[in-house]
Amino acid sequence: MSAIYNFSAGPAVLPKAVLEQARDELLDWHGSGMSVMEMSHRGKEFLSIAEQAEADLRELLTIPDNYRVLFLQGGATSQFAMVPLNLLRGKQQADYINTGAWSKKAIAEAGRFCEVNVAASAEDSRFTTIPAFESWQLNPDAAYVHYTPNETIGGVEFHWVPDTGDVPLVADMSSTILSRPIDVSRYGVIYAGAQKNIGPAGLTVVIVRDDLIGDTLAGTPSMYDYKLHADNGSMLNTPPTYGWYLAGLVFGWLKQQGGLDAMAEINRRKAGHLYAAVAGSAFYNSPVDVECHSWMNVPFTLADADLDSEFLAQAKTAGLLNLKGHRSVGGMRASIYNAMPAAGVAALIDFMGEFERTHG
Ligand SMILES: *Cc1c(COP(=O)(O)O)cnc(C)c1O
Repeated sequence: MSAIYNFSAGPAVLPKAVLEQARDELLDWHGSGMSVMEMSHRGKEFLSIAEQAEADLRELLTIPDNYRVLFLQGGATSQFAMVPLNLLRGKQQADYINTGAWSKKAIAEAGRFCEVNVAASAEDSRFTTIPAFESWQLNPDAAYVHYTPNETIGGVEFHWVPDTGDVPLVADMSSTILSRPIDVSRYGVIYAGAQKNIGPAGLTVVIVRDDLIGDTLAGTPSMYDYKLHADNGSMLNTPPTYGWYLAGLVFGWLKQQGGLDAMAEINRRKAGHLYAAVAGSAFYNSPVDVECHSWMNVPFTLADADLDSEFLAQAKTAGLLNLKGHRSVGGMRASIYNAMPAAGVAALIDFMGEFERTHG
């Protein structure tokens, strides 16, 4: 079988070495006689897996000691509610930056709990750019500022961190976490659904500063309370143990690759090659402003949209899967997360060149 490359936006490709290790350990983890799936989450075997995963994530992201790392369920979508429930802390207003489909969902959910001020919006550009920071109408009384550093659907990414002063900055990093080093101390909360750049769906990673934990809105369900999860080591109830284990394998793999400095260089190069191929052709086009081109999700269109289905069919035959753009945007989208090898991007670029020669 020739190589298959999966460009899905999520659930997405995982490192092959990680899947092989999981396969090798599937029936008997380290001589325990059990699969990780069968272990008590409170037993010493699983606790060692859980602790190692957290330690490796802390090392990769250089997470300061005054931040807690939570391994939760419910996806990034649950965080759309959990953030206001935990961070309003007596305030009634929160600032949101609207850069695309995921920002809009976060805004809609927050509106159930507080007054949302959309401090900046790129909707007029059909979400192809990021509003200049100087134009943001930030509210000094906001409980926090929420933004989406990488819009998975639109392929719009911040290559800078907004300075919100004393107002905590909250980031939905679902599709960009671990793609490069970040300065965690700039954030109040970072959250990410696992299924893009961490591991399998079902696990949600939350990194939250100590002082933002423990003052929830009245009536907050226990499962939505950061403090209860933090006080219980993310074992308030049965955590998603197998996803936590696989995330740990991915963290170990990232360390083997040289950590996030090395990943950033690889990701910069992979994305650079793909955008250069699009820019160098009259047949393909990127709808997104150059300075906010995402390293992780690369949307592009064909000169003739009538060729879209032919492109997708031939790509599939060539082993290049899941390149269809989101229905709200159209065209194509190549998601090239950490686990997408450079050879996959090269194969896509070759295919695009060949398709252009025969159809352009
Ligand atoms: C995929 C995604 C989500 C939704 O994640 P779920 O885990 O399905 O809730 C939210 N935000 C961003 C940026 C995403 O990419």
